[in-house]
Amino acid sequence: MTQDNYKDAIKDPIFLVIAEAAAELNVDSYVIGGFVRDFLLKRGTPKDIDVVAVGSGIELAQKVASKLPTTPKVSVFKNFGTAMLKHNDLELEFVGARKESYHTDSRNPIVEDGTLEDDQNRRDFTINAMAISLNKGSYGKLLDPFNGVNDLQSKVIKTPLEPGITYSDDPLRMMRAIRFATQLQFNIEDNSFASILENKDRIKIISKERIVDELNKIMNSPKPSIGFALLHKSQLLSYILPELSALQGIEEIEGHKHKDNFWHTLEVVDNISENTNNLWLRWAALLHDIGKAPTKKFHKKKGWTFRGHEFIGSKMVYKLFKRLRMPLNDKMKYVQKMVLMSSRPIVLSEDFVTDSAVRRLIFDAGENIEDLMILCEADITTKNTKKQRKYRNNFKLVRQKIVEVEERDQIRNFQPPVSGEEIMKTFNLKPSKEIGILKEAIKEAILDGTIPNEYDAAYNFMLQKGKELGLT
Ligand code: ATP
Ligand code: MG
Repeated sequence: MTQDNYKDAIKDPIFLVIAEAAAELNVDSYVIGGFVRDFLLKRGTPKDIDVVAVGSGIELAQKVASKLPTTPKVSVFKNFGTAMLKHNDLELEFVGARKESYHTDSRNPIVEDGTLEDDQNRRDFTINAMAISLNKGSYGKLLDPFNGVNDLQSKVIKTPLEPGITYSDDPLRMMRAIRFATQLQFNIEDNSFASILENKDRIKIISKERIVDELNKIMNSPKPSIGFALLHKSQLLSYILPELSALQGIEEIEGHKHKDNFWHTLEVVDNISENTNNLWLRWAALLHDIGKAPTKKFHKKKGWTFRGHEFIGSKMVYKLFKRLRMPLNDKMKYVQKMVLMSSRPIVLSEDFVTDSAVRRLIFDAGENIEDLMILCEADITTKNTKKQRKYRNNFKLVRQKIVEVEERDQIRNFQPPVSGEEIMKTFNLKPSKEIGILKEAIKEAILDGTIPNEYDAAYNFMLQKGKELGLT
């Protein structure tokens, strides 16, 4: 492609509207950043469009809005000198070209008006600094001062300026570098990587929310391990997720070795990402073994054990989410539940599977049983093909058993077949602990398979139990 025919990228009629508005205000304007990058990468036509005006971005946004038949609402962020509007399914963000200088103790720069070049200098990576002109005389021309096109071709993440400056000015860029390396499967240029290592402790000035945004983007990538391996290698991981760093390493005592649970975990996350786009199930895979570091012990007879690591791990999930200001809602509880239950199907697949064990598994997992099976299957990382086949086959059997048992007993959305009210009526009871005892006994009998999950059987069982308790 020559430098002139990037008009394909700006075919959407909105660009003519922007160009016209900018011309009327007598400012130059360019589409810049991710939009240009993703167009060149043929990642589909991006829905986020960043426009830079050499002048006021806010005024340009307002002018554009006034020209659109729908006159969309313009959200103005005065402090940042930016404005945003939505048009059809596009999100347009306007900013005035600026020059930035930084203090060491803050991510917030001192901002002055600048030229397009100033603005490109403050961008994070060469592949994110390319602009396409919307100006008369140069409409559709690519402005690529750092040869981002080249870096796109050679799949390199590189800063426009000396990396020490770029990363130290805004340490979030270290996370962004790793995130783009993961999303695009690019390499971070050596100098850049060395500089991330040097600046790693500056990650402390970045808000947890922003770090988590990047982590989630890494997590949503096709192969999240790329990002976590880079976070580990750059030592950023020990600031962000020390629980994971603690899993790294193999210890050997008296010829007994345990596996490296960090690298194992990364394999599990990649495996699961082939089978689910559920971000929180991916998080569960990432955290499923974090309890192994604090529970690790060596026994002369048994070798290495990690007793209760699922329980400890699920407790750690809460602390980790809290520390990172992640939601402490049903998503967190779901991750906790997956971590807590992460070994249950494995135990089943090793022993002879009884119906009652399967019923208990379905009861405890409830609607998350399928997710739990996906997690356990992703957990198979042995390189021994014979073992691998065996484990897969065992899980197949567990799955079959789940279907059979569920068809017969319908445990997944378990509702007690005899209600508390009915128990009270039958034995003429006021609300009391006996009701709980009876309900629990009925549930246990069903899960054990002593009685089927049916009203008549449960009712008779209740009468008999009531007698035993001296209620009749
Ligand atoms: P995506 O939207 O896929 O996450 P993007 O490159 O569009 O990728 P945004 O966060 O939307 O990323 O930012 C838009 C543009 O703004 C980037 O392409 C880059 O030029 C610039 N940018 C964003 N964040 C930074 C930063 N922390 N430092 C420097 N430039 C940045
Ligand atoms: Mg974007």
